[in-house]
Amino acid sequence: MSTIKLHDKYFKPFISKSQIDQAINKMAALMKEDCNGEVPIFIGILNGSFMFVADFIRAYDADCEVSFVKLSSYEGTGSLGKVKELIGLTESLEGRTIIILEDIIDTGNTLEEIFNIFKNQKIKELKIATLFFKPDVFHKSLPIDYIGISIPDKFIVGYGLDYNRLGRNLADIYQLTTQKMTNIVLFGPPGAGKGTQADVLKEKFNLIHISTGDVFRFNIKNETKLGMLAKSYMDKGNLVPDEVTIDMLKAEVDKNPNANGFIFDGFPRTESQAIELDNFLQEKGNAINGMVALEVPEDLLVARLLKRGETSGRPDDQDENKIRNRFSEYENKTAILKHYYEDQNKYYGVDGVGSIEEITERLITVFDKL
Ligand code: AMP
Repeated sequence: MSTIKLHDKYFKPFISKSQIDQAINKMAALMKEDCNGEVPIFIGILNGSFMFVADFIRAYDADCEVSFVKLSSYEGTGSLGKVKELIGLTESLEGRTIIILEDIIDTGNTLEEIFNIFKNQKIKELKIATLFFKPDVFHKSLPIDYIGISIPDKFIVGYGLDYNRLGRNLADIYQLTTQKMTNIVLFGPPGAGKGTQADVLKEKFNLIHISTGDVFRFNIKNETKLGMLAKSYMDKGNLVPDEVTIDMLKAEVDKNPNANGFIFDGFPRTESQAIELDNFLQEKGNAINGMVALEVPEDLLVARLLKRGETSGRPDDQDENKIRNRFSEYENKTAILKHYYEDQNKYYGVDGVGSIEEITERLITVFDKL
C-alpha cells in the first residue's frame, strides 16, 4: 500500500483489507448470535456499502435476506448535512428483524433519515450496523448496535467509499493527507559524516533515515539476491546500477507510509536517480525540500575513511585505491547533483570540518529553515 492520488488530492494507507475482514467476521458472528435462529433482512445503504455488504453476507454463516436502499449525503470531503432518499424499498418488512448495514456513520444525518424511512413499517426490530464509525462527530442520540472500526474524524476512501466518485474500487482504506513531508537529501562525498549526522538529525526532526549504502550492506550480510548483486560493485568502490538502486529506494520509502519525511543519505548519487526521486515524490504530492551538503576537502576524507576502515569492517574503507575510486565515482557522477539542486534553489552547503557536535549545530540551523 502506498500513497495514491484521486482527482487533486492525496490519500495515504490507513486500514488494510485484512483489518477490515477481521472486523467484519466479528460483526457477523455477533449478529448471528443475536438473531438466534431468526432470518434477518440486511439492508445495505448504497453506494458506499456495496463492498461491505458483499463481504459481510459471505461472513454471515446463517440464513439471511439482503436488500438495498440508496441515499446520498456526500458531495465532497465534508458532510452536507442534508440527506435525501433516492430509491426506496419495495418488499414488505412487516414483522421482520431489519439490520441496516452502513459503510460509515459520521454526523448521523444519514442514519436519522434511515430511521425516518423505517419507523412506519411495522418492523419487529430495527438494528443498525456500521463498518466505520466516527465517534468524535456523531451528534445524534440514535442507537448504533454494531460497530466495526471506530476512526478519528478523517476523510477516508476505498472499500466502497469515494472521493467525488473515485476510489470505491480500492481494496483497502486510505485517508486524506494534508500534511506535507520534509524530505532532505544529505549530501557529501564518502566519509563526509552523513551517516553519523543523520543519526542525530533523524531523532531531532522525527524523520526516517534511509542510507542506501546501509540497505545494501544489510542485504549483503543476509546474502539476499540484491546483496549479492550489489556486492560486486560495492567491493570495487563502483556505483550499483541505477535501476537496482532506484527500485530499492522506492521500496524503502513505501515501507514508511506515515513518515513525517525522510533524510536520504547516499541517494541520489546520479542525475537519473535525482530525477526519479523527484518524480516519485511528486506522485505522492511531495518534493525534496533541500539538499544539505557537507563540504570536506578530499585529503581529510581519505584519512577519515582509512581510520573508519580499521573498525568498520567495510572492505571499501580499507584500501586507498578503492577509496580513490569512490571519489572518482563521486566526482564523475555525483558531484554534478549540486547543480541539479542549485538550479531549483535547493542547495545548502555546510562546512563539514570540525567536531561532530559543531557540524551537527550547523546542520540543525539549515534543517530548521527547510
Ligand atoms: P555508502 O555507504 O553511502 O558510502 O555506500 C557504499 C556503496 O554502496 C557505494 O560505494 C556504492 O557501491 C553503493 N551505493 C550506495 N548508494 C548508492 C546509490 N545511490 N547508487 C549507486 N550505488 C550506491
